[in-house]
Amino acid sequence: MQKGELLYEGKAKKIYRTDDPDVYLVEYKDDATAFNGLKKGTISGKGELNNRISAHFFHLLEEKGIATHFLEQVSEREMLVRTLEIIPIEVVVRNIAAGSLAKRLGLEEGTALPRPVVEYYYKSDELGDPMINDDHIAALNLATPDELAALKKTALTVNNILREYLAPRRLELVDFKLEFGRHRGKILLGDEISPDTCRFWDTRTGEKLDKDRFRRDLGGVEEAYREVWHRLAG
Ligand code: 5GP
Repeated sequence: MQKGELLYEGKAKKIYRTDDPDVYLVEYKDDATAFNGLKKGTISGKGELNNRISAHFFHLLEEKGIATHFLEQVSEREMLVRTLEIIPIEVVVRNIAAGSLAKRLGLEEGTALPRPVVEYYYKSDELGDPMINDDHIAALNLATPDELAALKKTALTVNNILREYLAPRRLELVDFKLEFGRHRGKILLGDEISPDTCRFWDTRTGEKLDKDRFRRDLGGVEEAYREVWHRLAG
């Protein structure tokens, strides 16, 4: 597969065309940003680790019947994916109150939620990814009601699969963000699934093993990402 023209460079990834019009190449970068780009940094080794971790999760989800954009990992920091027309909605699923939910609702971080909470955010750097509901999604024509129902159902299924997989690896899935896109009439799970996009806490100690270490200047960022990989890879 030939790596072609650079199509898009985001905060954590670059997307290239390939010689197959149905396939893009994703390159994971070591760059990290937080708070809508206000905080910037580099986490050495992050690109390779997020590529490996995402490939691992996509593989697991495909095995369990979730349709994803993932095709194969082709190098330390690159994977091939199906092309997607991105649906500009971030779907967040939460099991434990943390981050913006804890702040918005005045809940102590770590409070277990009686059932998973699903939220939608409008993917817009300009607007700072505002939270939206199904009426806003219809008003902006971001997805049809059927598509939105499918997104929610898939996100909750992904939550069940990942929680069950992570529990014996002593990782608590606190919350995570998914993105989806359309490919030849089908909705596929896209983007990445990594410590950049999920909160993982050590089940026993509650230690944070995700991007919050970077966001909150807790130190040991690379070590945390590496620890997640070790627990997945066994
Ligand atoms: P919160 O709303 O608490 O900041 O984030 C909830 C979950 O979604 C966290 O696991 C967080 O990593 C993920 N998330 C939400 N928005 C974004 C985003 O724009 N970028 C990334 N990398 N993760 C996000």
